[in-house]
This record gives sequence, structure tokens and C-alpha cells, in this order.
Amino acid sequence: MPTHPFPGWKDKVLFTPGPLTTSRSVKQAMLRDLGSRDHEFIQIVKEVRSALVTLGGVSEPDYTAVLMQGSGTFGIEAVIGSIIPPTGKLLVLVNGAYGRRILQIASVLNIENDVLSVGENQIILPEAVEAALDGDKTITHVAVIHCETTTGIMNPVEAIGSVVQKHNCIYFVDAMSSFGAAPLNLGTAHIDFLVSSANKCIEGVPGFSFVLARQSALLAVRGYARSLSLDLYAQWAGLEKDGQFRFTPPTHAILAYYQAIQELEMEGGIPKRAERYRKNYEVCLEGMRRLGFKPYLAPENRGYIITSFYYPEHPNFNFQRFYTLLSDKGFLIYPGKLSQVDCFRIGHVGRIDASDVYGLLAAVRITMIEMGMADLFEKEASL
Ligand SMILES: *Cc1c(COP(=O)(O)O)cnc(C)c1O
Repeated sequence: MPTHPFPGWKDKVLFTPGPLTTSRSVKQAMLRDLGSRDHEFIQIVKEVRSALVTLGGVSEPDYTAVLMQGSGTFGIEAVIGSIIPPTGKLLVLVNGAYGRRILQIASVLNIENDVLSVGENQIILPEAVEAALDGDKTITHVAVIHCETTTGIMNPVEAIGSVVQKHNCIYFVDAMSSFGAAPLNLGTAHIDFLVSSANKCIEGVPGFSFVLARQSALLAVRGYARSLSLDLYAQWAGLEKDGQFRFTPPTHAILAYYQAIQELEMEGGIPKRAERYRKNYEVCLEGMRRLGFKPYLAPENRGYIITSFYYPEHPNFNFQRFYTLLSDKGFLIYPGKLSQVDCFRIGHVGRIDASDVYGLLAAVRITMIEMGMADLFEKEASL
């Protein structure tokens, strides 16, 4: 049910993993109609692609950026479906739902695969990857999630990259929810292919994903694609040839993205953005603790992009009611995605800062009183 009287009213604040709250100026950048084959649009696409390579800590032509229509999963499916030869074998490192999704994509595409799986509260250790690669010499490709958004855990992609490189395998990283939020150099991490999407930490709107690829690795995959529209090599070749997409591009989302990249630069780049997100996380964690909530991950595994909290042990707690009462107050949190444990999630990313987090915490406190759960924080008089 709409809680606002008409469109254009104030939007709710999104404490989600994406789509995220974006700036007004990013949304305003979409109020244009550009032809997909017009030189102005082609120039914008070119600049966006270059900026993405720079944000990956690398440079052209060693690395190149390919924009792909669709949400993040489409980008992942384009990579998995395009880079593995018919005789190849993919090892997927899994500690959450997004790792399992890569496995599912490989299965649907009939790509031979194996899995190295650990608990959802554990990081993937490079030593375990080393053992898996030593144990199966037929593995040619390795895929891992950087920030497993299921829990917010950060996998050590640099250390895993060294192991993968040592075994001469191709290395794919799903950095969907971390790209733009955490500094990462694709070169030193030995990453061959990386995917993220428009509506995550660069703070654009949904509509496309992008692939950062080591050019030499990309040039080697011609003809492997298992799909026409999700053919990574063909998409890249089209963009290189005349700067155009093969099929209708999301012109408005790309205009928004162009603006979002400029705003990232104005903010001071990825290190400054990481600082803002980390502050959101710290204020949120401390405040939620005082209200009686416990985070799912151990301190050493916790990232600052998104946090999973256990459902509180209280007879009056009901997630749907909690969610709705917070939503009525203008704050959207996110359900959990864990396979065994009941959790909900609070994101710390998007165009939000500590003042929004304080607002959320006040709303959580009032909601707990409404639900008859104030005893969880009453011992804490300090808030
Ligand atoms: C958001 C996300 C995706 C992609 O999700 P879409 O809904 O397809 O955009 C994939 N992997 C991770 C780690 C994510 O956070």
C-alpha cells in the first residue's frame, strides 16, 4: 500500500544492498533523450568505460571495460558463459547465496564445475583454494565473490588471486557489492574478469552491469559464448568497433552513471567513499547493539558494506511486522538470505550518511516499543 499521497513525495531511505538511494542529481541526469547511435552518447559510453578501468586501479589497454544490458546476474552469466572453453572446468568458491548462484549458472550452461564450500560465517582461505587446485589439475577457471552480500563477509580476493595465478587458472571475481566501496587493484589481485553493476556502490540506477577484463584474457575467448545476447567477446568487439552497443542500450541509466562517476570523484574517490560507508556501519552496529541486536559474523570477518543481524530472541519479534513498521517510518531494511539461520540485513551503502543511520536507529527503537520489545534495551539507559 502506498504510504505517500502522490508520486514526488519524499522517498524512503534504502538500507538495502541495491538498488540504493541515489542523489537527486544522478536521477536528474536521466531527464534527456539521447540517440543510441549519436556521437554524444557514444562519447559518454567511452568515458564511462575508461573511468571504470581507472577505478579498478589499472589502465587501458591492459584492461578494458564492457557494459552489458541487464542486472548484475546478467553480467555474471555473460562472463561464465563466455570465458570457459568447452573443455574447461570451473571451480566455484562458495560461502553464501551469490556463490551458489554462480554454481547454478554453470550447471544451467552445462559447464563442468566443482565447488569449494565453507560455512556462511567463514571466509574462503587461500590455503583451501591451493589444496583444491593441487587436487584437481583439470580446473581451468576459478570464481569467487568479493563481498558475499548474503552476510557481508569479505573474501580475501588478493591472496586467493596469487594462488589462482600460480596454478595458471583464469580468475573471475564477482565484486558486485564491493566495487566502488572498497579499494581494489585488479592487477595486483591477478584478476582476469570482474563484474559489478550500475546500481550498487558507484550509486547509479539499475539497468546494466559491467565487466572489467584483462584484454589478453578477453581476446582468447572468442567463439566460446553459449548465448548471443550475453556474448562478452562480441559485446566488447562491438563497443570497440564503433562505440555502439549491439542491441538497445539503457541510455538513461548510462547518463545517470556518468553523473554518478563524477560524484564519486567529487567525494574524493573510492577511499573517501569507503570512509563514509565504514562510518555508517560503525554507527549502525553500535546503535543496534545498544538496542539488543547481535551481528551474525565474528568481528574479524565483518565487512562494512552490509551487516546481517540475528532475529532477537523475543516472543514478540516478527520480522514482517518489524519491517513494515520501519517502512512506515520511511526506512527500508532487507530480509536475510542465510540458509540455516534467521537474520535480517542492514546495508551501509548508497547516498546515505551517519545522519540517516541515526534516523534508522531512532525508528528501530520506537518500533521496538510498539512491538512490546523495549525490555531488550531498557537496561541500556545510554541511548
Ligand atoms: C547484487 C548482487 C548480485 C547481482 O544481483 P542482481 O539482482 O542480478 O543485480 C550478484 N552478486 C552479488 C554479490 C550481489 O551483491
